[in-house]
Parts: sequence; structure tokens; C-alpha cells
Amino acid sequence: MRVVLLGPPGAGKGTQAEFIAARLAVPAISTGDIFRANVSGQTELGQKAKVYMDAGDLVPDEITVAMVKDRLAQPDAVNGFLLDGFPRTIAQAEQLAASLAELGHGLDRVLELVVEEEELVRRLSGRRMLVDGEMVQRDDDKPETVRHRLEVYREQTAPLSGFYDDEGLLSRIDAIGAVDEVTARALRALGVDPEGTAPGAAAAGA
Ligand code: ADP
Repeated sequence: MRVVLLGPPGAGKGTQAEFIAARLAVPAISTGDIFRANVSGQTELGQKAKVYMDAGDLVPDEITVAMVKDRLAQPDAVNGFLLDGFPRTIAQAEQLAASLAELGHGLDRVLELVVEEEELVRRLSGRRMLVDGEMVQRDDDKPETVRHRLEVYREQTAPLSGFYDDEGLLSRIDAIGAVDEVTARALRALGVDPEGTAPGAAAAGA
């Protein structure tokens, strides 16, 4: 299955992506995580991306699209994937559609995690992640940057909701509630039984 997870910063995309992808037995591909890995590895890509990320701006499409194309060409993504944080602009969505079409594929569904803005600000300012055994705040989770990221979302990413709705691909998921309840709503929108085991899980575990 080829799925895109859409939603504002703080909606819980990263958490849900892991659970949904495990159930579907496809890789969860997060452009934010790939960028952060490149920043800490001090690669050329990371150095380019860091300037934009620290400001809460989007990394330019040409950098991001090339990176995603490379990742989707890897063997584990050939039969399906769950994209988290990509596409984030209409141009990225069009280029994704074009590269999938070249391979004779298309997206099966786009899940939009819906959370109102007040709750997002609350979640993001309280968010911490574990780095080298310590709980730290992500540089771009500082209050001013959070506000800017939400603005960028509203202006550049929110239009994707209408874009995918017009294609008949969009399912809007209420992302308020317990993590496993939100996962179950997302899986039901994909026509997958939340209680079942992952296809291929037995083989993978053998
Ligand atoms: P969040 O969803 O909480 O904003 P992410 O981890 O998805 O966080 O992204 C962090 C940052 O990485 C973004 O603010 C942006 O600078 C960059 N980034 C991630 N995905 C993309 C993308 N598809 N296009 C452009 N920039 C991106």
C-alpha cells in the first residue's frame, strides 16, 4: 500500500506513522527524520537543510524531492510505503505523482490527521525528545519557530488537503484521543482491521 500521512506539526504524524506502517508492513519514511539525520551527520545535504529547518521554513522543493526519489527507489519501498512529512507543497505532490506514474504506480490513500491549532501549540511547546540519554527540546520547537511553522503549514501545506480530496484520495482522521485509538481510526480508513496482525509479519518474525 502507498500512503501519505498529512497533518500540521504536532498532530502526531511521526508516532502514528510508526504504528500504521508496522501494521501495513511497509517502511515509514519521514523527511523530517532524514533531514535531522543528515544534520547530525553533518552531510552536505544536512548543512543545506539546517538553515531552513532552524528558521521553521520548508527546505526547497528541489532538494527535498531529489532526496525522496532516492529513498523511494530503495528496495524496501518498492512495494509500498508510508510517507510522513512529504509532500508538503503542491509542487512536491505533483512531482511525487509523476515519479510514481513513471513506475506505473499511484497513491492508494492520503490520511490527514486533524487537530485544532490551540492543541498543536500546547503539544509542540511541551514536546521533548531523547538525545544521548537526555530529554531536549528540538531547536524548531521554540515558541516563535512553532508559530512560524504553523503559518507555513497553513499557507503551503494545508492546500494539499483539497488537492487530494479532488482526487478522491483523502480521509480526514480525528487525531485527538489515545494514540492506539487514533491508529485504529487511521487503519479503518485504509480498510485494514486494526486487530489483525501485519501482512508478512509472520514471515518477517520467522
Ligand atoms: P513537523 O511535522 O513537526 O514540522 P518534521 O520533522 O516533519 O516536523 O519537519 C521538520 C522540518 O524539516 C520542517 O520544518 C522543514 O524545515 C523540514 N522538512 C521536512 N519535510 C519537508 C518537506 N517535505 N519539504 C520541505 N521541508 C521539509
